[in-house]
Amino acid sequence: MPDFDAIIIGAGMSGMYQLIRLRELGMKLRVLEAGTGVGGTWYWNRYPGARFDSESYSYGFSFDPELLQEWSWSEHFAPQPETLRYLNRVADKYDLRRDIQFNSKVTAAHYADGGWTLTLADGSRQTARFLITAIGPLSAPTLPRIEGIESFRGPSFHTARWPHEGVDFTGKRVAVIGTGATGVQTIQEVAKTAGHLTVFQRTPNWCAPLHNRPITEEEQRRIKEDYPAIFQRCAETFACFLHSADPRGTFEVTKAEREAFYEELYASPGFGIWVGNFKDSYTDPAANREISDFVAAKIRQRVKDPRVAEMLIPKNHGFGTRRVPMETRYYEVYNQPNVELVDSKATPIQRITPTGLTTSERDFEFDIIIYATGFDALTGAFDRIDIRGREGVALKQAWSAGARTLVGMLAEGFPNMFMLLGPHTALGNIPRSIEFNVEWVSALLAHMQQHHLAEAEPRPEAVEAWMAHVMECSIGLLANDVDSWFTGVNKNVEGRQTRMIARYSGSAPAYRARCDAIAAGGYRELRLGAASGATPG
Ligand code: NAP
Repeated sequence: MPDFDAIIIGAGMSGMYQLIRLRELGMKLRVLEAGTGVGGTWYWNRYPGARFDSESYSYGFSFDPELLQEWSWSEHFAPQPETLRYLNRVADKYDLRRDIQFNSKVTAAHYADGGWTLTLADGSRQTARFLITAIGPLSAPTLPRIEGIESFRGPSFHTARWPHEGVDFTGKRVAVIGTGATGVQTIQEVAKTAGHLTVFQRTPNWCAPLHNRPITEEEQRRIKEDYPAIFQRCAETFACFLHSADPRGTFEVTKAEREAFYEELYASPGFGIWVGNFKDSYTDPAANREISDFVAAKIRQRVKDPRVAEMLIPKNHGFGTRRVPMETRYYEVYNQPNVELVDSKATPIQRITPTGLTTSERDFEFDIIIYATGFDALTGAFDRIDIRGREGVALKQAWSAGARTLVGMLAEGFPNMFMLLGPHTALGNIPRSIEFNVEWVSALLAHMQQHHLAEAEPRPEAVEAWMAHVMECSIGLLANDVDSWFTGVNKNVEGRQTRMIARYSGSAPAYRARCDAIAAGGYRELRLGAASGATPG
């Protein structure tokens, strides 16, 4: 007998909700979590300035109406400490911690005889019939591959491994390496107190204003009344945000109308400028040029030194073809006398030294170095666990030419493994996808319970068809021609140097419709059977 019916790896939002749902099936459950608390992304990413880029009230769990009425978000885009408090409140309310084992990093998960054996970093083992990975798409931090990185004598941090006690920058000489969504949030905060801040930017990103502000009492009352409508809207939009693309093409309106629309989006809170833009903004190069030129002009207006402004304007990709970092006075940071921007493409970092770093041009001295260098996205968290399926085949090996899944949640050759945010699930406003995926996996497990089925695995032809759909969805996207985690590129990771179709780029409603059709059809795309060795039904 295995120790548990199911083991869930990870106590972030997906692991927490999966635990709540599977308890309803009366299962014996265990969540293994590497950290000391719940929260996942919001537990690990404690860097200064970390906050939502989606509206707070569209991000929280939707499944508990009582919790929705009880919890009051303080800002339209909540800061990380508040989100972590919220997730701890959920853990308290549902008494989740009694099934969570903290400080428990899973190093291996091997399948045999209808079940999984998990090995932890301390060498201990646990077994379960079902393995559920709740390990997130952006959770495996990557440090840059720069010589001497261990030699720096001062404190240095990756943003996703930030010290719980915080860091005081007052009067300090600080370096930030990386200018993605994380770097941007960090830079605008650190610049407030650092004695001197040097930003090392390899590729500029197109950033746009977040326009965050506190939620007024009147707004709070309306939000709480409107929750059903808010979540209904999220269920209908392409990426589960409150924003959705404008149905007009860029050139269907006059130049003056276009400019007015861009101005309106630029002045509005949140992702509207990115995901609420003209429908062809990220498929038609000419349309993309229009919005890129508009945002470039804004950067030139906001940054006083024209040379620095040009450094901050991306030249190798158009607006929105990579994740748009949302900012609050980010560009104005470069008008401060205590901030310097270094072009790490023109003058690459050659070495980290005991007292700072050396570029191809000069030496720098720092008290603190911050690595905002991102993640081995989508599959990195899977690669960091030695996952082996039938006949000992390693998942990393099976996915060496790119991940292969059925709806991002199942992998052929890995029976009874369910991935909550696997590589081809719909992302966007992630908690909305989490709730759907958790409910889909829970319904499948309920179905298996009802029919006394012990094993589930996707059929090869279903995986083939799904992969063809994933490829088809990506056709024509300008983002395909740009290096980023969207296209599976991470220069700091071996084997991630070339672009591929790494994620699902269809709409969330289309994704859910396909998953629902599998369930409604009685899971014909899966081999469902008795325990290992028996003929699947
Ligand atoms: P990222 O977008 O991958 O950015 C990493 C940055 O580090 C890039 O600017 C990269 O430059 C730079 N870098 C890496 N290695 C380097 C090196 N050796 N030398 C110089 N620069 C180097 O990672 P991220 O900013 O952590 O964001 C990842 C994702 O997390 C986001 O896209 C977003 O989906 C999510 N996120 C969300 C929020 C939010 O919702 N509030 C906040 C933060 C992050 P290159 O571009 O040249 O590679």
